[in-house]
Amino acid sequence: MKIIMLGAPGAGKGTQAKKIAAKYDIPHISTGDIFRANIKNGTELGKKAKTFMDQGLLVPDELVVDLVVDRVNQEDCSKGYVLDGFPRTIPQAEALDAALAKMNQKMDYAINVEVPDENIVQRMSGRRACVDCGTTYHIVYAPTKQEGICDNCGGNLILRDDDKPETVQKRLGVYHDQTQPLIEYYTDKNILVEVDGTIDINDVFAEIVKVLGE
Ligand code: ADP
Ligand code: ADP
Ligand code: ZN
Repeated sequence: MKIIMLGAPGAGKGTQAKKIAAKYDIPHISTGDIFRANIKNGTELGKKAKTFMDQGLLVPDELVVDLVVDRVNQEDCSKGYVLDGFPRTIPQAEALDAALAKMNQKMDYAINVEVPDENIVQRMSGRRACVDCGTTYHIVYAPTKQEGICDNCGGNLILRDDDKPETVQKRLGVYHDQTQPLIEYYTDKNILVEVDGTIDINDVFAEIVKVLGE
């Protein structure tokens, strides 16, 4: 099962992708997490990506596409995977489709988690992310058992620099310009699934499971 998560920054893509990955036993591939790991490790890719990420801009397509295509060709992806944060532009989607077509494969679902802009800024200010494993929490809607400590791995939680309100506004603009057109792209390919992202986290997941199957 090959799945794409679509939605604005903060819509809950990562939250749902982690639940899908656990239930269906497929890898969760988050390009944001991959970039943040590269930044943390001081790689060349990380240095390049950081200048864009800090401004709330997208990292250029050529720095993203090969990385994802290489990743989905790894052995653990043979039964499928869930892509979170990729594709984010039409050229990225076309490049993914072209790479899959070479292997006689195609994506099965593009799940659009729908949350209006009004809810996003507030949601992002409460988001906390684990510096070690990338799991995200929310101070009100998805709190950790112990404040500031990741339930999953014990790592420290931070408010991401790019989750400050000014940068969130910028990212929302970038989302509407460059990423939202993918909704039509995947509608045309007959794989778009719409879910309401404003309801409780477990209720969103139940909607997704109805589509993917038990
Ligand atoms: P969010 O969880 O808020 O949607 P991500 O963690 O997915 O954010 O991405 C953080 C930042 O990483 C983005 O604002 C962008 O700069 C960069 N990024 C992640 N994925 C991509 C991608 N597929 N194409 C371009 N830039 C990306
Ligand atoms: P994305 O990957 O789309 O940027 P996240 O999964 O990181 O989004 O979620 C953004 C923030 O909103 C996190 O703090 C997360 O805990 C919280 N969140 C996710 N889904 C919901 C929901 N259905 N209701 C309330 N808060 C949510
Ligand atoms: Zn963690």
